[in-house]
Amino acid sequence: MVKILVTDPLHEDAIKILEEVGEVEVATGLTKEQLLEKIKDADVLVVRSGTKVTRDVIERAEKLKVIGRAGVGVDNIDVEAATEKGIIVVNAPDASSISVAELTMGLMLAAARNIPQATASLKRGEWDRKRFKGIELYGKTLGVIGLGRIGQQVVKRAKAFGMNIIGYDPYIPKEVAESMGVELVDDINELCKRADFITLHVPLTPKTRHIIGREQINLMKKNAIIVNCARGGLIDEKALYEALKEKKIRAAALDVFEEEPPKDNPLLTLDNVIGTPHQGASTEEAQKAAGTIVAEQIKKVLRGELAENVVNMPNIPQEKLGKLKPYMLLAETLGNIVMQVLDGSVNRVELVYSGELAKEKTDLIKRAFLKGLLSPILLAGINLVNAPVIAKNRNINVVESTTSEEKYGNAIKITAESDKKKFSIVGAIINNKPVILEVDGYEVSFIPEGVLAIIKHIDRPGTIGRVCLTLGDYGINIAGMQVGRKEPGGESVMLLNLDHTVPDEVVEKIKEIPNIKDIAVVDLP
Ligand code: NAD
Repeated sequence: MVKILVTDPLHEDAIKILEEVGEVEVATGLTKEQLLEKIKDADVLVVRSGTKVTRDVIERAEKLKVIGRAGVGVDNIDVEAATEKGIIVVNAPDASSISVAELTMGLMLAAARNIPQATASLKRGEWDRKRFKGIELYGKTLGVIGLGRIGQQVVKRAKAFGMNIIGYDPYIPKEVAESMGVELVDDINELCKRADFITLHVPLTPKTRHIIGREQINLMKKNAIIVNCARGGLIDEKALYEALKEKKIRAAALDVFEEEPPKDNPLLTLDNVIGTPHQGASTEEAQKAAGTIVAEQIKKVLRGELAENVVNMPNIPQEKLGKLKPYMLLAETLGNIVMQVLDGSVNRVELVYSGELAKEKTDLIKRAFLKGLLSPILLAGINLVNAPVIAKNRNINVVESTTSEEKYGNAIKITAESDKKKFSIVGAIINNKPVILEVDGYEVSFIPEGVLAIIKHIDRPGTIGRVCLTLGDYGINIAGMQVGRKEPGGESVMLLNLDHTVPDEVVEKIKEIPNIKDIAVVDLP
């Protein structure tokens, strides 16, 4: 009998599904020692965010085949340790989208009509209609930042309220946005200027931190209402506080904060701020969906069927994976680099395989590449199974071919283009390590890791020096550097390995240096 250990509270319907495939033991609140003991003979472990499934827990397991996470984030699971032991990790990425979208609408309405403030006043025995006069959603412009799972659900609901919708999401094609009835804008500042209501639905990444900063807030209308049900760090809270205090914008409705729970957060002292304690996913339905989706996934894995929400890759038979594995890792890294360099809506990608790879079945390499391509812009939940589907939904055209050219041996060349740029890169496995051998046609040789700056420039004396000085002025240390050029004085590429990421401000300064043509900063996981 399959033994299923559940160590965090799970919806009863999920338990029922699990009981169809095994004997379920629910043991919540376990100490580490108790968990280490219980995991020994479990075939399946089901957790939410409470249980820390660390390497020692995984190593102690003697029979474990699947770990299920009832929810999205797998930060509490050592996925690498699980993969090494051939344990499949599944999750439920889409369980809470509707709940978060509904809370967004709720907060938008509550802020527009001052519902929490009016309720509090009513309960104090007051009857003050004038003070709480609100505004309608109807006919107003809603600016949606991030048109992924939740953003799209918000769009549908806002349309029912008669709102006009503009969206900012540089990674989806215009046609896809138009098919949702959204006018896509190229610049977040334009959205901030035009919108009456602004709502955020992007993941928190180095690129999206403070995506709403002082500059954006200053552009907003006096009557603007901003809603954040995504992540706290997306808005510069200090700038938001000042704007709300001085009534430069109308109101803010926040479910998330830079520090949670908030400690002495001045925003919470303002009358024009309403909020909830990060409860976007706290609904009966979302909790039930998280449990039942993951239970169904576990059932599929145990029955040997294809599970869509597999986070790692040990479900692919080792004999099939064999020598492809390092190339899959290389392809994933190349995908990650390509998205960060193109930084826009990717419309075409070509993968060209050479050497022995040209004779292999490359479907898994293509999937790994797409996973890498999409992961810098999407929340957790992108995997080898769903990556091609998500790429197709985003109108990314993927072409594969082979070449008999042996210049780099077993190598993968990617040529990609977005609405803004074209980029090509060649990677190979050398001494079991991924190595980049060409960037946009320039020969280089470096191991892709950490933070990279890829800078196109004209080969003129002093250019490299000025870039280095600018980075130095901001305390950014250069760990390694390479320059690729085709001819003296011509276009060249500078590749810098950096010890820290490069803030936008520094990127802008580098762009101002004479002879600099382009800079892309790539942060590899
Ligand atoms: P998703 O991955 O489906 O969509 C994210 C979208 O953001 C994508 O369309 C992507 O192209 C876009 N994007 C990425 N970088 C961008 C940028 N720099 N500018 C504009 N757009 C960008 O994610 P999702 O499931 O819709 O989740 C959205 C947010 O909601 C995340 O921050 C997530 O953490 C949060 N969330 C909050 C709660 C809650 O309890 N409040 C619950 C679940 C999710």
